[in-house]
Amino acid sequence: MEECLFCKIIRKEIPADIVYEDENIIAFKDIQPAAPIHILVIPKKHISSINEIESKDEALIGYIYTKIKEIAKMQGVNETGYRVIVNCGKDAGQEVMHLHFHLLAGKKLGEKIVD
Ligand code: 5GP
Ligand code: ZN
Repeated sequence: MEECLFCKIIRKEIPADIVYEDENIIAFKDIQPAAPIHILVIPKKHISSINEIESKDEALIGYIYTKIKEIAKMQGVNETGYRVIVNCGKDAGQEVMHLHFHLLAGKKLGEKIVD
């Protein structure tokens, strides 16, 4: 059993504000939102980071982007725009070692994506 925080959210051992769920992914609101809409989209399969993605995961990664597009539409930001960020490793500030896609929207986002 994975001890990872996001696996616990998947198993509903830790509460989260879930906005979408199916057999492959779960999407929930970030606990410390950096924008009016800040959703984390994660695969139910435990993959620690981009570095651990394998060729057999290619369809899953494509699926995640297809669902991100749909979640953005559900949130009403598909036309106004949104940003998708994936941090990988220490220098990117990855804190939770379960692959997650930040979906950020709801305001004009900063022009710099790094500072
Ligand atoms: P990272 O820095 O690893 O790319 O992003 C991890 C994100 O997970 C952060 O934005 C942080 O606010 C969020 N987060 C950490 N713990 C929890 C939690 O228990 N619940 C939720 N919903 N988000 C969390
Ligand atoms: Zn996990």
